Parts: sequence; structure tokens; C-alpha cells
Amino acid sequence: MNDFNHSFSRRRFVQYGLAAGAGMLLNAVKAQTVSGGHSSAAPLYRPITARGYAAFDNSGKLAPWIFERRAVGDNDILIDVKYASICHSDIHQMKGDWGQQQYPQVPGHEIAGIVAAVGKNVTKFKVGDRAGVGCMVDSCMRCESCLAGLEQHCDNNATVFTYGYPDPASPSGITQGGYSTNIVVRDHFAVHIPDSIKLEEAAPLLCAGITTYSPLMKAGIKSGDKVGVAGIGGLGHLAVKLAAAKGAEVYAFTTSPEKVRDIRRFGVKEVIVVDNLDKLKPYKGRLDYMIATVPVQFDVAAYAATVKPYGSFTLVGMPDAFNITLSNIALSQSRVNFNASLIGGIPETQEVVNYCAANNIRPTIQMISAAQINDAWENVVNKKARYRYVIDAATF
Ligand SMILES: [Zn+2]
Ligand SMILES: [Zn+2]
Repeated sequence: MNDFNHSFSRRRFVQYGLAAGAGMLLNAVKAQTVSGGHSSAAPLYRPITARGYAAFDNSGKLAPWIFERRAVGDNDILIDVKYASICHSDIHQMKGDWGQQQYPQVPGHEIAGIVAAVGKNVTKFKVGDRAGVGCMVDSCMRCESCLAGLEQHCDNNATVFTYGYPDPASPSGITQGGYSTNIVVRDHFAVHIPDSIKLEEAAPLLCAGITTYSPLMKAGIKSGDKVGVAGIGGLGHLAVKLAAAKGAEVYAFTTSPEKVRDIRRFGVKEVIVVDNLDKLKPYKGRLDYMIATVPVQFDVAAYAATVKPYGSFTLVGMPDAFNITLSNIALSQSRVNFNASLIGGIPETQEVVNYCAANNIRPTIQMISAAQINDAWENVVNKKARYRYVIDAATF
């Protein structure tokens, strides 16, 4: 195994060394020797060249870009990305819907691939491991929240999200996401992907999976509970499958009648096509819990009213400017506890990946090439995705 890894890492060295020039190669070999030469994979002490698709402005269109990532540090791993899937958040952020952006910026926070190099302090991964990266790539790792595995809520405000986030170590000054051939990430922020799930099916779990799994688990749903899911896209279809796997009676609310047949196959009790808010009325006060994944403004209180008084309603969809307008009088009349949730921590992300792998829960995906990303984005916005686009990174 060691021999295999050693020769593998040597190959990587030669490959990247050639790209960086002979002088750099010499330095790299020196560095490898200094670090002992016996480690299963010596780190790469220089920036890593990546090919990907980036936004160059807020048009919502991406184009090919060759860029550099930071060198692999002592606590980092380099992942050869095999697949990256498309989240509605990618589109919102690149268009500037959540604030002004720095460009070029590579989106993508549902990333799956193979570890190609590890830093000298890394014990969590070795070269050749299957690994996934989701919405964050670093945090302080010392505060109460980080130590509790809630790195997304770092008390020191040191959570680093996967793309577009200030990162002095990144040659471009910001983090660059997964629509690319590789990514360098602190080892803690990658999760293991079990052999029993394909990498392309694991990718969507890294954001859509954890974002729905975390609030479902927090709500303590149990067998027989009536669980509503509003918005059956990338997140919603996984919420349906996860809640059904936990034994819940799932009620799926969609505005797309053409999705009904698919949704029935996801294990629901009922699909309700909400072409008019009156369609919600027969469900008033009937559900134990509802999760809404709708990423645009909608009538939150009308949906929340389907939950029993003092039951909970969680909003995970993030609309423009992150703002939602809701009728406080309608919400108070329903007596429903309204809350919101943001992804999930690293231990829980590992948990959802393991859970889906072990229980045969798979996202419904469509594989595309890099050249199809712009069309796929339009389809996501127009509710035509079925249900997660996965980009084959070999086409970058
Ligand atoms: Zn996402
Ligand atoms: Zn922290």
C-alpha cells in the first residue's frame, strides 16, 4: 500500500512539477526529502493549478478558467475532483443576489473525488481515499461551537465557506469552489465517502443532503410522524427521501404538476400541487413538522399553517438578499414555531453520507458535462432540474 501510495505521489509530483517548471520540481523533490520521503504522500509545496468554470460577472453565465489554488499545507489534503453538483445557491451567489461578489469566482459546494496528496500532519485521509467537501472549508476549530461539531456557527466568526469567501492563502484572494479539477482543503472539512455509494451520488449529499438531514434530525421526527416538505427540487427531493427512510408519512408540496409522478416514487404518502394557496387549506393544522426548501419569496405563513399548533416549521431555502417577508398575524394565528437552519456541521455531514450509503438513499441525478452548465443553471432557475445536476469533472 505504501509503495503504491509512494509511487502515486511521485507521479503527482512529476506531473505538477512539469507544469510548474524544473526549478520548482527541484524544490519539490527537496521538500519531499526533508519531510522524510516515507510518508504515504508528500505534500505539494507550491500552488496547485486547477481548471474549472467561473463566473466573471453577475450575468449568471460561467466560462472556463485556469487558476491556482494554495499549496497543500501541513493540515491540508488535495482532492482530485471527480464530480461536482449544482446547488441553487451557486446561482444566487454568482448573480450577486446575496451581495456583491469578487470575480472570477468558481462556484460549487457539493464535491466528491479522490485524495491525491496529504500534508504531513494529516491522519484523517490517505492518498487514494474517496472524499467529499461541502459548504465550508475551514473554521477556528477551537471555540465551543467548533468543538461541538457546529463549525458553520463558529463563535469566532471564522467559518470559511467554500467559494467567494476571503482567504489570504488563496492566490485569487477568495476561496474557489468545486466546479473544477481539484480542491485543496483542511482535512477536517472533508468527509469520507463509503465505497457503497457512487461518488456522483454522494456529491449532492454534501449540501442538499446535510441541509435537509440536520433540521429533520433536530426536529426528532419518528416513525409515523406527518412530515411536510415544501419545494421539491434538489433539497426537497432529498428531504422527502430522508424523512420517508426515517418512517415518516411524507406530504410533498410542489408547484410543478409535472413532478408528481417522480415524487410518488420518492416514497411520499401524498403529493399536493399548490397551483393556488387554497390547496393548502385541507391540510391546516394536520402535520407534525414541515421543512420548506423554497429558495425564493413565498407565502411562508400559509405553508406553516399546515403544521399543528406548537409544531415546528423550518425554512432552509435562501431567497434574494436572504430576506423573507411573512405575515406575522397569519403566523401567530397558526401558533407554529418558525425557525431557519443553515447546512450542518462536519460530524453530522459524515453521518448523513454514511446513513444514505448504508440505507440505499440516493439523490436523483442527471449527469452533465462542463459545457452544459449554463443550460443546467437556467433549468434550475426554471424548476426544470430533475433533481440534481452533477458535473463530470473530467470535462473541465
Ligand atoms: Zn448548496
Ligand atoms: Zn470556531
